[in-house]
Amino acid sequence: MRKVIIVASLAVVVTLATYIMLTRIPAGSENGACCPTTASERTTLDPALFQGDVHQAYVIAERHPALLIQLHCYCGCDREVGHRSLLDCYRDRHATTCPICLGEALMAGRMADEGKSIDQIREAVDARYAHAHGS
Ligand SMILES: [Zn+2]
Repeated sequence: MRKVIIVASLAVVVTLATYIMLTRIPAGSENGACCPTTASERTTLDPALFQGDVHQAYVIAERHPALLIQLHCYCGCDREVGHRSLLDCYRDRHATTCPICLGEALMAGRMADEGKSIDQIREAVDARYAHAHGS
């Protein structure tokens, strides 16, 4: 008779635990959604963390967030990690290992220094990188 009681109470515990887990998962996963998009916020990583071209590219990202947010990154990160613009590549360490992210930012920064408009820069970046992925 004792065994029956133990088995029965175990079943209750398991059922309760399952119920709690099932009801908790949706609430928890919604909190994972992220990312403010205002260009004026400081959202990129500190350039001091890096050296050489990578450092330079993070400096550009820090100085020109409003420019980078209007450029598309052609390395495929939009599909792979959900990046919405080139600026997103500089919010994490993605750009440190990606020659396309680096090249686009360095090119955009150089053109911005030359006084080029965002439209001109976007056209140049598109012309240079739009078909670069996978080649
Ligand atoms: Zn990228």
